Amino acid sequence: MAHILIVGGGVAGLAAGITARLNGHDATIYEKHFKAGGNLTGWDRGGYHIDNCIHWLTGTNPVTKLYRMWKELGALGDVDVHQAESLFTFEKNGQQISLSNNLEQLQWDMLALAPEDEKEIRPLIKAIRDMQILNGIAGEHCDQKSSAWQKVHAVPSLLKYYSMTTGELAQRFSNPVLQGFLVSMMSHYFSALAMIMVFATFTGGNGAIPAGGSCAMAERMEQRFLSLGGKLHLRRGVAKINTKGDVAESVTLEDGTTVPVDYVVVTSDPAVAFGKLLDPRLMPKGLKKQYDDPKMLRFSSFHCAFACDSTEVPFRSDMIYEIPQEYRKNLPAEFLMLREFSHEKQFAPEGKALIQTMSYCMEKEANEFIDLSRDQEAYRQKKQSIAADVGQIISEKIPSLRGKLQCLDVWTPATYRRYTGTEIGSYMSFILPASTIPAKISNRIEGLKNVLLATQWLQTPGGLPIAADSGITAIQAILKREKKLIAAK
Ligand SMILES: Cc1cc2nc3c(=O)[nH]c(=O)nc-3n(C[C@H](O)[C@H](O)[C@H](O)COP(=O)(O)OP(=O)(O)OC[C@H]3O[C@@H](n4cnc5c(N)ncnc54)[C@H](O)[C@@H]3O)c2cc1C
Repeated sequence: MAHILIVGGGVAGLAAGITARLNGHDATIYEKHFKAGGNLTGWDRGGYHIDNCIHWLTGTNPVTKLYRMWKELGALGDVDVHQAESLFTFEKNGQQISLSNNLEQLQWDMLALAPEDEKEIRPLIKAIRDMQILNGIAGEHCDQKSSAWQKVHAVPSLLKYYSMTTGELAQRFSNPVLQGFLVSMMSHYFSALAMIMVFATFTGGNGAIPAGGSCAMAERMEQRFLSLGGKLHLRRGVAKINTKGDVAESVTLEDGTTVPVDYVVVTSDPAVAFGKLLDPRLMPKGLKKQYDDPKMLRFSSFHCAFACDSTEVPFRSDMIYEIPQEYRKNLPAEFLMLREFSHEKQFAPEGKALIQTMSYCMEKEANEFIDLSRDQEAYRQKKQSIAADVGQIISEKIPSLRGKLQCLDVWTPATYRRYTGTEIGSYMSFILPASTIPAKISNRIEGLKNVLLATQWLQTPGGLPIAADSGITAIQAILKREKKLIAAK
């Protein structure tokens, strides 16, 4: 039995730990935070529960491989999944369009809103349907063996979108509401195919939310790990991996303790892995290439949570508005996404509701938040002004909520950086650019035999399934190596 030390107890770390235990190896997770889950988390404020992560969990449709992965990892437990009627609604000039969970309905709604765009709407809906078939989420037609991304080239309806960004796709439509709808969820910069994948996932019943939300899912995975005999040490960050020749012999924790290891699986952000734990020159070439490539963009977001003095919230799921120009100096983003949680009664006290907001920002703006956070007072004032402006926009867009909102919390890229150590507060990997098939980067570190990477950064654009898969894959590499070592004895 090998001793596998796992740096970080996010989804990748928990998935690695569970897989190691399922295969009979000793697994210990060292997590710097006071709880496991990483970005898959939530927290309590003033009697409300703030949910940080899941808008959609890919892999909730039982016909898919990912569903079986989540089951094995204990992520779904026996809880229900909440399949919302729509993933989000975009509103502009008083007109709305929703990403319905029914693809026929989506087509119908798009055609009703913008008959002039029929020549673009029908091929897009066909591409979404073909993506479902390719990705194994189309019920009886599903092809479980296919890897959607690799086969995109063989499907003409999808190939058409390969070289387009979401922004370029939106420009093919003439209706301004549809244009906004197509970029509001994922920005202008993603590959149009990534957006088609998200639409296919949600309309294929494969992107629901497990009951209890993000925090509860992390707790189920943690319980699964512990119940298999894994060891989890919280508030115990790793400071350094100590190597001799091509072997890591031990790790030093932030409290100065040294722990001997057979293997180390590093799940922290590459900025931590190769800025602090290991020599930066050891970063795998594939990953370094992506960091150096100006085409590979990173993003983060800033958020507010509001207590709402009523349960009469006049929208469901996520609602997206354009941020009016006059607010953009203070709110450095194009869109304001509102989330409501009527499906989670325990997130707000009786008679009240919780509304959260989220606005994406790119690397430059994320770094501005991080720089500002070094001046505590200036940062506090910035957060206050964000809450005031966001509250004002909500009141303008939804007058029935005027005077009913009280800010519970504001969090920014600087919060994510402080919490998980990511460089610019990013919590996904790079934005998948157009004309790119997301290849997996090797989890090996050249020159070190017993250290493996397990992080969403190994496959653009990251997210929960990629994080979990990276943890499983790192352990599979260790199992292979152990088998070889035993055979050689
Ligand atoms: C607002 C938001 C919305 C999101 N929505 C979705 C969604 O709808 N669907 C989806 O699939 N994904 C979503 N994500 C992304 C998802 O949360 C991440 O992809 C996933 O959680 C990444 O997991 P990870 O384990 O790779 O990394 P992390 O979550 O970053 O975990 C790394 C862990 O390592 C720990 N660590 C770092 N340094 C050290 C050290 N030196 N010693 C010990 N521990 C250390 C950190 O504290 C952290 O716990 C969202 C994220 C956010 C923030």
